[in-house]
Amino acid sequence: MSTTLSTPNSTLSAIEAALPIDPQPYTVGDRPTGLIVVDVVNGFCTVGFGVAAPREPNEQIATMVSQSNRLAKAFIARGMPILAFLDSHEPGKAEPPYPTHCEKGSGEEKLVPELEWLETHPQVTLIEKDCINGFIGSIDVETGNNTLIQWVNQHKHEALVVVGICTDICVMDLVVTMLSARNHDMLPRLKEIAVYTKGCATYDMTPEMVRSLGLPKTAIHPQKISHHIGLYTMAERGAFIASAIVL
Ligand SMILES: [Zn+2]
Repeated sequence: MSTTLSTPNSTLSAIEAALPIDPQPYTVGDRPTGLIVVDVVNGFCTVGFGVAAPREPNEQIATMVSQSNRLAKAFIARGMPILAFLDSHEPGKAEPPYPTHCEKGSGEEKLVPELEWLETHPQVTLIEKDCINGFIGSIDVETGNNTLIQWVNQHKHEALVVVGICTDICVMDLVVTMLSARNHDMLPRLKEIAVYTKGCATYDMTPEMVRSLGLPKTAIHPQKISHHIGLYTMAERGAFIASAIVL
């Protein structure tokens, strides 16, 4: 069963018309800008690498990986910092409602091969997180320190460019929370968050897959529609939806 048949194009078109987004090129310019790469790890992106990974090559995910890598190289070349989130769980500790994924030591929690170079680059900050929302995952439970807020403020970022997976889950929760944090004056210099459409992807879970796995109906997750809804939600909360990132 081809996953591309799961969403009738007419349904996607109707949703795109009813909930429009209007992606525009985003120019970084000379403003201090950071790149945030969300969860581009094997467990979500590398074919066959665990329960949350694609089961077969997936165009949207492959494009997200290559575009994230391209942007990361461009940011590094301009001396701009990068923060990468790594979904990463203590073995055996669940993250409901999801099946066990990205356990430490499994390799699922590691950046995909194309992005492995970020692990040791001095301009890159890595944050392991054990929950969907990277803003929450950056909080040290004991001290209350937030590594993400510190990174943004320390670099005096006025803008952030966000890429990664999943558009409607980890990317969206991070972006909408960051917009609230900005409006709450927790990120005093931050003006704008741009989300790059081709730098984001989500997973596909067709009704057939849900049935064969014995999952509830609510696990159905059509990739293109879910991706669009994620972008739409971020747009309506005030994110800039970028058709291209101009550096
Ligand atoms: Zn997780």
